[in-house]
Amino acid sequence: MMALVSFCESFVRLDKQPNSFAGRPYLPQIYDSAKRNLVLRCGRQVEKTTLLANLIVFNAVQYPGIKMLLCCPRREQAEMFSRSRLRPIISGSPLIARCLLGSNRRLRDPMNLTFENESELTIRSAFRSAEAARGQSADILLLDEFQDIASGDLPVLMETLSHSPRKQVVITGTPKHVDNHLEAVFSQSSACEWLIPCDCGKDVRLDEQAIGPSGLICPNCRNQVHVINGRWVPGYPESALGSGYTVSQLMVPWLDFSEIVAKQAEYDPIRFKNECLGLPTVLGDHVLTREEIESCCNRRPMSKKLADVPRDSHPYLVAGLDWGSGGAAATLLTVGYLSGRNKFIVVHFARFQGSEDPNRVIDFVTKLCREFRVRVVGTDGSGNGVLHNWTLADKLQGQAKIVGITYSDSNHKIQPQGPLLKWTIDRTENMGFVFHWIRKRQVEFPRLEDVRSFVEEFLNVIAEYDDYSHSIRYTKPETKRDDAVHSATYALIVARNLACPPSPDFS
Ligand SMILES: [Zn+2]
Repeated sequence: MMALVSFCESFVRLDKQPNSFAGRPYLPQIYDSAKRNLVLRCGRQVEKTTLLANLIVFNAVQYPGIKMLLCCPRREQAEMFSRSRLRPIISGSPLIARCLLGSNRRLRDPMNLTFENESELTIRSAFRSAEAARGQSADILLLDEFQDIASGDLPVLMETLSHSPRKQVVITGTPKHVDNHLEAVFSQSSACEWLIPCDCGKDVRLDEQAIGPSGLICPNCRNQVHVINGRWVPGYPESALGSGYTVSQLMVPWLDFSEIVAKQAEYDPIRFKNECLGLPTVLGDHVLTREEIESCCNRRPMSKKLADVPRDSHPYLVAGLDWGSGGAAATLLTVGYLSGRNKFIVVHFARFQGSEDPNRVIDFVTKLCREFRVRVVGTDGSGNGVLHNWTLADKLQGQAKIVGITYSDSNHKIQPQGPLLKWTIDRTENMGFVFHWIRKRQVEFPRLEDVRSFVEEFLNVIAEYDDYSHSIRYTKPETKRDDAVHSATYALIVARNLACPPSPDFS
């Protein structure tokens, strides 16, 4: 029987081109493993869908009468796969088309494909439940975007194989957090990693530490290393389940390395790890370490007045303000500016206890905004904040733009709202951005002894996975505070968008 790799090279045509394995030294072993159970944990855009389509076509041709069942979380994904990934391969590869389509050359129903040689592919969606797949029977079960398929449904889906002598499962997905069911099956597989030996004797693993400024590096000796020199090393060689591989964007031949570096700067760190590196994130884990936060503190004392701030940055001073809602929550003010070197410099933090009279708090805040002549105040625009913001705007008499910020799950345009501006932003993305800048030491705090109680609030933030929205959410333990984090987030985003210094090295 022909192997999948040579089948693809000989018969599969995509846009009239033969399948190429050039520059992909990691692919042949994965393709070879696809004759048994296979688990692929992948970053986005690493030819995972191509592999699924090739595998389906190969089996349909080689094993006439075979039954395959493909499940995706959503119906649109399922139809998209059928119409725009599978169909072009079948109709564009002459010998395959002749074998599977015969003379009528048509595939009517994209969800139920019956081929000329009696091979079958059924496609179903299983987002909330696997009900749609119940009662099907298959020889090969393919589960795509497995991380989003209802988590308890694997047993129901496996039942579809109960009458088959072959009983093969192919699971592919993009990692989320370590508690996701993709990780559970991956850890039962051989869990292979692509390791690149370095001249210093260490094996380089493809994670954040291997990302150098212009290419992959060994974190131990900082020498450049190359994907082509790597090999698959199993984490669990005795696996009874089958083979598993992690495929990352750092491995693919067409990706420009500067794009990776740009994504690392743009994406929130969790998304970068999942979608680019193909690695899961550890949740419940604190987002920042003490070392990361303390290494952002420098030796200068906290500025008490405008004259303590370098003169050339005066035009760019902004404030971030998180209103306390009474009770335990304090009101927190962060004053800072964006330097031409793409750093955010915090010059002042102030905290007003929740028990304080709100009018006194507004007076203090006004006084500090006046003292530092801030140009923009990014402030909490929900709840009590709305009323306080109008009062603050009144008191500042046009000295600063007041931007009332509301957290949401997507970013919107800034809109006028009476004398204020109103801005709805993606909570996870923008908080993640601050953490990312801290980790890269692009945030500078005053000396630790002056700001300890403020920066320690950053250590309280934990990442949590929200199963309903399928996304990460930053949160904190009930008893801990994170007001400083929100006020710094507001300050940094208004600085980047509304008070950016005109500097050539700013990007
Ligand atoms: Zn090395």
